[in-house]
Amino acid sequence: MKNEVKITFMSLSVNESFARQVASSFTAMLDPTVDELADIKTAVSEAVTNCIVHAYPDTVGKIMMTLKTDGNEVTVSIRDKGIGIPDVKKAMEPCYTTAPTEERSGMGFTVMEAFVDKVKVTSKEGKGTKVTLKKYIGSKR
Ligand code: ATP
Ligand code: MG
Repeated sequence: MKNEVKITFMSLSVNESFARQVASSFTAMLDPTVDELADIKTAVSEAVTNCIVHAYPDTVGKIMMTLKTDGNEVTVSIRDKGIGIPDVKKAMEPCYTTAPTEERSGMGFTVMEAFVDKVKVTSKEGKGTKVTLKKYIGSKR
C-alpha cells in the first residue's frame, strides 16, 4: 500500500502534540505495535520541537510535514524555512546544543536515531532544515 499526506502548521508549541498525533494516526494504517507507534511519535515530537525552538527562535513560521507509507515502511519528513543548521554533523552529536538550558540537553537527534531506522538531515543556513525519519513497521522487507 502506498499513501501520502501533507500538512502545514505554525511553529506553536501546541502544534507539537498535534503533529505527534497525526503521525500516530497515519502510522496506525500499517498495524504497528504500541511500541512502534510510540517510537514514531517520540521521533516526530523531537523533530517538530526543534523547528519550534531552534528554526524560528523569535518568530512564528511554518512547518511542513509529509507522511508516506510504502509497503511496511513509514517515512515522515519535517521541514522548516527557518535559520538552518551551519554544521549538521556537529548538531547531530550527542549532547550538542546551541541552547543550553535545563530543558535542552542536545539529545533530540540522538533520540530520533534511537527510535527510527533512518534519520536524514539536510539544512542550509538562512534557508531551513529538512529532517526525514524512516521506520519499518513489523519485519524489515
Ligand atoms: P534537546 O532536543 O535535547 O531538547 P537540542 O534541541 O538542543 O536539545 P538536538 O535536538 O539534538 O538538541 O539539536 C541539536 C542542535 O541542532 C540544536 O541545539 C540546534 O542548534 C540545531 N537544530 C536542530 N534542529 C534545528 C532546526 N530545525 N533549525 C535550526 N537548528 C536546529
Ligand atoms: Mg531538540
